[in-house]
Amino acid sequence: MSTDFLTDLRAQARAHADLLRPTALDLDRNPDLAVSAPGCGLPWRRFAGLPAEYNPDPLRVDGRPVLLDTCVERVVVLEELARADAAAVLALPGPSMSASVIADLADDDQQQRYWETVATEPTWTFFAMTEPAHGSDPGSMHTTLRRHGDDFRLHGTKRYVGNGVRSRLGVVFARRNAGPLGVVAVLVDTDLPGFTAAPLSTLGLRGLQLSELRMVDVPLTEADILGRQRSATRQGMWAATRTFNRYRPVVSCLALGVAQAAYDLVVTQRRRYRTDERHLLTGWEQRLAGTRALVLAAARAVDADPRDGTLAAAAKLRATRLAEEITTTAVRLLGPGARWEHPMLDKLLRDARAFEFMEGTGNIQRLTLAEGYLQGRLTDVRAG
Ligand SMILES: Cc1cc2nc3c(=O)[nH]c(=O)nc-3n(C[C@H](O)[C@H](O)[C@H](O)COP(=O)(O)OP(=O)(O)OC[C@H]3O[C@@H](n4cnc5c(N)ncnc54)[C@H](O)[C@@H]3O)c2cc1C
Repeated sequence: MSTDFLTDLRAQARAHADLLRPTALDLDRNPDLAVSAPGCGLPWRRFAGLPAEYNPDPLRVDGRPVLLDTCVERVVVLEELARADAAAVLALPGPSMSASVIADLADDDQQQRYWETVATEPTWTFFAMTEPAHGSDPGSMHTTLRRHGDDFRLHGTKRYVGNGVRSRLGVVFARRNAGPLGVVAVLVDTDLPGFTAAPLSTLGLRGLQLSELRMVDVPLTEADILGRQRSATRQGMWAATRTFNRYRPVVSCLALGVAQAAYDLVVTQRRRYRTDERHLLTGWEQRLAGTRALVLAAARAVDADPRDGTLAAAAKLRATRLAEEITTTAVRLLGPGARWEHPMLDKLLRDARAFEFMEGTGNIQRLTLAEGYLQGRLTDVRAG
């Protein structure tokens, strides 16, 4: 993908981002706005990553359709949208993370069932891994998929699941046998008996509406098990790892969008600076540009090989830290009443905190980065 193409794509995304700005604070106050006004003004189908056959009017750059089916396209576009409102990006209807599991594991019937549901009208989906008592560690996952005659029963609780309460279907990870290879991914319709979802109260990225999902003996069939025709090494955890690798650059670009928005807010609200403050702003400009380059490199790397999340971990560490630093310091630069006087800054500060946890905490990224480095995947990375 040429630099010119990505520059034009970024310019298109920037123009669309203006549509999200007017509703950013409303969505923060009232996450249900994502459902009553799907896309919050944005033509959501163009940004949802729908396949060509379900996307008659895609984004176009120089006449060429852009389906956002590569990580590189996604990080360029979503950073610009996140600069207006990261929560609105995450609250868009459409496939989100679950599509990556579908792409890797679903058979033809499951693909058709998934995409026809997701593309016909505004439909939200979820990716449910994290559990209340065990977090996102698959080794201690308690949600189970058990045989029940010819069929199955799904039982367990998932927490911190984005868009859960507003979803029509999603992917749930559950244990069928002991050990990491015993984890499978299942496609679950939310109107099945025994399935309930409740919103959680959150401070940051409130539009995403984190939820708790409870599944009490939800009836499933063989046709709901994703990748059932594959070997155990190519099922649940295999697809989950590839999904995390693909979406860590996306989370990084959202954090970068928040960092850039906080920087923009400071420079539009304050005109005069001390010398040390000028140095600070120059440092931020350089780090924003450097992190943007790292996020793009990480996206290229996972597009080339979704098994390797080393650069993606580095990008997530850098972008998350930068978002936290700029939003926090922006409050000091804009004076004692800054969060009160600038509600958008208050929102950016709260949103920035959420990225630390999405797709694994900083410590998990450091472990991934160290492992990649020791295995020779990187020769010169200084993300710590
Ligand atoms: C905005 C947002 C959206 C989310 N969306 C989803 C979603 O859609 N679906 C979903 O399933 N989950 C989702 N989550 C949950 C998220 O993926 C988890 O919270 C995250 O992966 C952290 O996992 P955990 O809760 O298990 O924390 P833990 O991994 O238990 O971490 C707790 C603490 O222990 C540290 N730690 C853990 N392991 C190690 C180690 N080996 N070495 C050193 N330190 C360690 C961590 O750094 C952290 O400080 C979301 C979370 C947020 C905030």
